[in-house]
Amino acid sequence: MILYNSATRQREEFVPNNPDLVKMYTCGPTVYHFAHIGNLRSYIMEDILEKSLRYAGYNVKRVMNITDVGHLTSDADEGEDKMLKGARREHKTVMEIAQFYTDAFFEDCRKLNIKRPDVVEPATNCIDEYIKIITKLMDTGYAYFAGGNVYFDTSKLERYYIFNDFNEEDLAVGVREGVEEDTNKRNKNDFVLWFTKSKFEDQALKWDSPWGVGYPGWHIECSGISMKHLGEDLDIHCGGIDNAFPHHTNEIAQSEAYLGHHWCNHWMHVFHLNAATGKMSKSSGEFLTVSLLEEKGYDPLAYRFFCLQGHYRKVLVFTWENLDNAQSAYNKLIAKIAALKPGSSKVVSEDFYALKEKFTAALNNDLNTSLAVTALYDVLKAKTTDDTKLAAIDDFDRVLGLDLIDKAIEKRAADAKAAAAAASTEYAVIAEDGTDDAEITAKILARRDAKKAKNFAEADRIRDELKNAGIEVTDIPNGAKWKRV
Ligand code: AMP
Ligand code: ZN
Repeated sequence: MILYNSATRQREEFVPNNPDLVKMYTCGPTVYHFAHIGNLRSYIMEDILEKSLRYAGYNVKRVMNITDVGHLTSDADEGEDKMLKGARREHKTVMEIAQFYTDAFFEDCRKLNIKRPDVVEPATNCIDEYIKIITKLMDTGYAYFAGGNVYFDTSKLERYYIFNDFNEEDLAVGVREGVEEDTNKRNKNDFVLWFTKSKFEDQALKWDSPWGVGYPGWHIECSGISMKHLGEDLDIHCGGIDNAFPHHTNEIAQSEAYLGHHWCNHWMHVFHLNAATGKMSKSSGEFLTVSLLEEKGYDPLAYRFFCLQGHYRKVLVFTWENLDNAQSAYNKLIAKIAALKPGSSKVVSEDFYALKEKFTAALNNDLNTSLAVTALYDVLKAKTTDDTKLAAIDDFDRVLGLDLIDKAIEKRAADAKAAAAAASTEYAVIAEDGTDDAEITAKILARRDAKKAKNFAEADRIRDELKNAGIEVTDIPNGAKWKRV
């Protein structure tokens, strides 16, 4: 598999250290708010990477942290702890906020078919690991104590910038965000490993340490958690592009200084999802969530489909029109698959493998997901049996994660119900997505009764009531169909 490696700035053959197990680490969410669909673009593409590796036959152990302490409002270690900010906003404790938004994150992942990593570790669980690493960094002179905090000394490294040739201006992250500079730092890019002093004395979570009661910096958590679960080397580390600097740069600095050897071979960074007006960010307070997409009547998987149509190393621009197009293309795709007849023929294995080859080649070409989606359309157009097509679609969906076969079955069932209703004299109430809802059915039947009794005002009132609840009712011969809009 060819993958672009941000550390070498080259496309490279992906070769794990141990062919029997790929060790993969992903930076997880900071759980002070809902994930926005930009964050989730990163997690969708990382999910595609993990599934592509598994599809290629690798065993993968994937670890993800949950940032529930230490991530300050500026990535340059200044400002206040994001968790505390969230707790204050909602008048809850930090742990309550962490639990609530961790659950919300995995619920979003479930809706988007993002597999839960094999290990999910909250940062607050691994304080001993960070203390062990920081102690050695202090002993070996890579870290220093100043003004109550422990800092990593970036001037001790031969090479600090791994991902880019940054200039001083680019590096003034904190200043740019209007946060005061930390005068304890010996070098501009030194970063905090352990805080005991912060301007915010009400920091909720604190632990004892050789340097005083305090809490870990954000960067050390990923090194500590990765080493705890994956040992001293790593095959692949991923995150959104904004993580490359300073977060990943600092992870490499402290991990390699601690270990005394090279740490991670391959770095994968997902470019941002931007709104038409610019970057989507949690801190701005205005962002789109999966629940909001659902409220507006979109299927979360239509958003996943939208993400797959772009390459992970290109900025993706979100507009409602783009999402409408993705939703309608997704619906048409499901309708085409639903029109295939399972069990009508046999799987022709040469045809199956020829189709699979195109799909695999697309993934192996630096995760070219839009080409992989084209390979899916090629299946529908191929001159082969329906069962071969269904087998190929099912196989591709192990990576694409679009629930293609299940949605097609649901659609077939709903279509069959509608056809049966049209042919019978009994009034049928059909949910277009194949689900059942007793309350909605009862209302639609009440509307039918009102119409029968020529009480049209009541019938219209019920239709409006349903409409206000986001339910659109369409009359069909001998019944009614409804859908959420
Ligand atoms: P956070 O919860 O802020 O720590 O971010 C979680 C993940 O989302 C990180 O990997 C970020 O790099 C990534 N991320 C943040 N903003 C965006 C965006 N607009 N598009 C794609 N990924 C993003
Ligand atoms: Zn991280």
